[in-house]
Amino acid sequence: MSTRASHSRIGDLARTFLLVELLRGLRLTGRNLFRRKVTIQYPEEKGPQSPRFRGLHALRRYPNGEERCIACKLCEAVCPALAITIDSEQREDGTRRTTRYDIDLFKCIYCGFCEESCPVDSIVETRIFEYHMEDRSERIISKDRLLAIGEQYEAQLARDRQQDAPYR
Ligand code: SF4
Ligand code: SF4
Repeated sequence: MSTRASHSRIGDLARTFLLVELLRGLRLTGRNLFRRKVTIQYPEEKGPQSPRFRGLHALRRYPNGEERCIACKLCEAVCPALAITIDSEQREDGTRRTTRYDIDLFKCIYCGFCEESCPVDSIVETRIFEYHMEDRSERIISKDRLLAIGEQYEAQLARDRQQDAPYR
């Protein structure tokens, strides 16, 4: 055994008997013991969310109840995951509206491109992130459900957009 190897072995033994590693660990624990906690008791406690949070989608209406979506299909075209499927038709008053607006939540990567591309602030991503599916068929979120979510969370959606307006 070379002299250098034997010195290293003695050093290792000394560190083991003097509990150097343990003391180092305890020093680290001691340093962090009284610092502000960064963990929270989820789900009882919730962390802060940005107004730009990208959760479950919703379709919004104008205050008079009219659908915002004009079926321009920009969101469908821009979606990198091909998650959006839109069918549309012209109404009697000459305006165009969707007859089908589906989002496949298994395909969606929550990139927010649909929201950014929409010229009328219709398709948006809400702050909802606690949802689940019990059947594969539930992955498709249809126009009715999207509009219902939009109606339920409209106040929050409008507030978030107002707060975020200077950065858009
Ligand atoms: S968030 Fe992105 S992936 Fe999901 S539907 Fe919108 S554009 Fe497509
Ligand atoms: S949600 Fe917006 S981008 Fe998509 S079709 Fe409707 S108006 Fe166009």
